Amino acid sequence: MTTKTVLVCGAGGFIGGHLVKRLKREGHWVRGVDLKMNEYSETEADDFAIGDLRDQSFVRSVIDRRFDEVYQLAADMGGAGYIFTGENDADIMHNSATINLNVLDICHKRNIKRVFYSSSACMYPEHNQLDPDNPNCAEDSAYPANPDSEYGWEKLFSERLYLAYNRNHGMQCRIARYHNIFGPEGTWDGGKEKAPAAMCRKVAAALDGGAIDVWGDGLQTRSFLYVDECVEGTVRLLRSDFEGPVNIGSDEMISINGLARMVIDIADKNIGINNIPGPLGVRGRNSDNRLIKERLGWAPNQPLRTGMEVTYRWISEQARLGHNKRAA
Ligand code: NAD
Repeated sequence: MTTKTVLVCGAGGFIGGHLVKRLKREGHWVRGVDLKMNEYSETEADDFAIGDLRDQSFVRSVIDRRFDEVYQLAADMGGAGYIFTGENDADIMHNSATINLNVLDICHKRNIKRVFYSSSACMYPEHNQLDPDNPNCAEDSAYPANPDSEYGWEKLFSERLYLAYNRNHGMQCRIARYHNIFGPEGTWDGGKEKAPAAMCRKVAAALDGGAIDVWGDGLQTRSFLYVDECVEGTVRLLRSDFEGPVNIGSDEMISINGLARMVIDIADKNIGINNIPGPLGVRGRNSDNRLIKERLGWAPNQPLRTGMEVTYRWISEQARLGHNKRAA
C-alpha cells in the first residue's frame, strides 16, 4: 500500500484516537486535530494540532496541503445525559455545524477529494423507533425527517452538506451513520458516557448483594458496535466508491436491562437492577446492515459480549486506579 497523508479531525476523541492507531499501523503520515489530546493514552499521530475547528483561520492552517484522506469526526457530543436534556441544544447545533462548514469548505479549496463524515443513527425519525422490538433503521427510512434530538438534526443537515459538495464540486465525501460505538478508551464517567461504559462503571463499583440504577424501564433496545469494527468500516467506506449514507453498526439488538445483566455476568457478581427515571432517547434502535453488505461486501460481525468483556476489564481497571473524573 502506498503511504498516504491523512488528517483526522477529532483525533483526541474516542473513535478518532483508535482511527489514528489504525492508520499508523498501515504506515501512513497522520496529522491529528482536536481541542484536546486523548485522555487515556498518548497519540500515535505524527503531528497533532491543538485548536478549535470552529475557527476558520485555524482550519486553514491545519488543512495546509492536499491530504489524500480526511476523516471528520469532531463534534460537540455526549451520551443521553448531554444530548437529550435540551440544555445543550444551541451549543450542539452551532458548534458541530460550524466545524463541518469550515472543514468541508477548506478541503474543497485545497482540492481534497476524499472526506469521511461521521453521522449518527440519531438522525433516524423518532416514529420509526417507537417499537423496541421492531425499530426501522434502513437508510432510506430517513425521510420524511423527524429526529428526536437537535444533535440528530445537525447530523442530517451536515449529511446533506457533504452530499451537496459531492454533487456541485466533484468531491468524493463518504458518509456513515454510526450506531452506539463502545470500547476501551471511551468516556466512562463524568456525564458524557454512553450506556455500555456507564453499566461497566456501575457494576465495577457495586458490591456483591447490591444493585445498580438503570434509566427507564430497561426494555428499550439498542445495538452496540465495538470500536475496532467501527474503524474498519470507516476506512473501508472512505476508500470505496459508495458515498453512503450507510449504517456502521451492529445488528445484535439487546434491551438495556439485558445489557446490564450481561455486564453483571461478565463481572461474576450478584447484583440487582433498579429501573429509575432518566433521559432515554428512542424506544428501540438497531443497525440495518443490508445496504453495507450489498455495497461494501462487509459488515461488522463480532458478538457484543466479546467487546463488552474487553471494555469491562478496561473500565474496572481505570476505576481501580482512581482515574475517574468523579466518584463512581
Ligand atoms: P468524542 O467526543 O470522543 O470525539 C469528538 C472529538 O471532537 C472530541 O475529542 C472533541 O474534543 C473534538 N471537538 C469537539 N469540538 C471541537 C472543536 N470545536 N474543534 C476541535 N475539536 C473538537 O466522540 P466519538 O465517540 O469519538 O465520536 C466521533 C464522531 O462520531 C462524532 O462526530 C460523533 O457525533 C460520531 N458518532 C459517535 C457515536 C458513538 O457512539 N461514539 C455514535 C454516532 C455518531
